[in-house]
Amino acid sequence: ADAVNWAMEGEARSLFASSAPMMPVGPTRTLTVPKEFPQLAKQLCASRAPDAFDLAYRLLLRLSDTPRLLRSRADPDVCRAEELAKNIRRDMHKMKAFVRFREVTPKGAARRQFLSWFEPDHRIEELIAGFFARRFGDMDWVIVTPEVTTRFKDGNITQEAIASARLDLSDDTEALWQTYYANIFNPARLKIKAMQAEMPKKYWKNLPEAELIPGLIAKAEAQVAAMQTTAPTLAPMRAERVLDRVRDNQRATTLGMPALLQELKGCARCPLSGTATQVVPGEGPARADLMIVGEQPGDQEDLAGRPFVGPAGQLFDDLAAEAGLDRSSAYVTNAVKHFKFQVRGKRRIHQTPTAHEISHCRWWLEREIAEVQPQLILGLGATAALALTGNGKGILKRRGRVEPGKMGVPVFLTLHPSSLLRQPDPTTKAQQRAAFIDDLSQVAKIRASLQAVAEAG
Ligand code: URA
Repeated sequence: ADAVNWAMEGEARSLFASSAPMMPVGPTRTLTVPKEFPQLAKQLCASRAPDAFDLAYRLLLRLSDTPRLLRSRADPDVCRAEELAKNIRRDMHKMKAFVRFREVTPKGAARRQFLSWFEPDHRIEELIAGFFARRFGDMDWVIVTPEVTTRFKDGNITQEAIASARLDLSDDTEALWQTYYANIFNPARLKIKAMQAEMPKKYWKNLPEAELIPGLIAKAEAQVAAMQTTAPTLAPMRAERVLDRVRDNQRATTLGMPALLQELKGCARCPLSGTATQVVPGEGPARADLMIVGEQPGDQEDLAGRPFVGPAGQLFDDLAAEAGLDRSSAYVTNAVKHFKFQVRGKRRIHQTPTAHEISHCRWWLEREIAEVQPQLILGLGATAALALTGNGKGILKRRGRVEPGKMGVPVFLTLHPSSLLRQPDPTTKAQQRAAFIDDLSQVAKIRASLQAVAEAG
């Protein structure tokens, strides 16, 4: 591996890069590698770190002698590879969050067309194209980066290495993003450091809403002072009507769905009803645009008869608040309505429900969805994912995406907040926390877009 010089085509990296190979080419050799290596190698090949290709090739050769090498976390090559792969994942995460499309549909076009400009730190265009194709599969779009142009047309992706200068994409959509950002900006909750960590300054130049940030920050202090001293004003007529609706919803929550609640109380569809204290029904407005589905009630929920009132629920509330996701206007429920546990000493230890139990309880979930009529469902964890999509594949690879729901409502998947509570390593915990908040802010954004569409229609 040390004798091989790697360079991108067109970027001579050493004196030898353009000359004929120095080494005699040996017979072809088939190498077998562990299944996680191809993905790692793709990430390394996307990296702009000068040692990334050498490292990928060296790992490949070393793996043929030491198949378990990737498990040696103390090995310097493995450590470095993990570090570089992490940078790639971070870059991809930022691209998912900060790409903004501008509509450029010509009159009479069959599909809507969008254009976007983004400057990734690494060569991630190929790795990330599938994400945008899945997320924006119902429109045609082009994402231009300084080196690659990715086109998605009629369901097909093509990519070309084209050197491009920054695109100036100001138009009406820009104004829409700015209005959106200015509206969600709450001066009383301004945390400049956290904001810059999530939305680093280098991305600001391509974000329409970023133009507003310095002005909003400057005004924030004065606004907070004004908010504190201003006497409450009379709500305008429309606000009064909205409040009436909210009050109705609250009434409907306590009295609401009476038949369903009554039936649910007598549920004996599976043996869990025999051991739990009580059934824990969903809670929230009888009609809600967002439904949040967890796994099953925990120990405290089982005693209180209400979902998400224990530690996982409290953590979820805190993170949702940080992400700007209003939980109080969502309907919150669980895939399984009875607490499943094992007694150990004086404690009742949570047990994951089986596919069978989940399937029995789907009967209730389907009826709740039919009653509440959400536009979007947030599924927390693998149990909710299975109940809502019918797909039991690992949640780690599916989180952060919208999937079609079995009951006709799109489902955004993320991890269950209890996985954060269980994480012992503080660094990993902090990363998972940030990723969770990021997922929730995506939900808040999708929700806002759906509300905007509903209002416009
Ligand atoms: N975890 C859940 O999934 N639901 C609850 O209600 C509480 C904890």
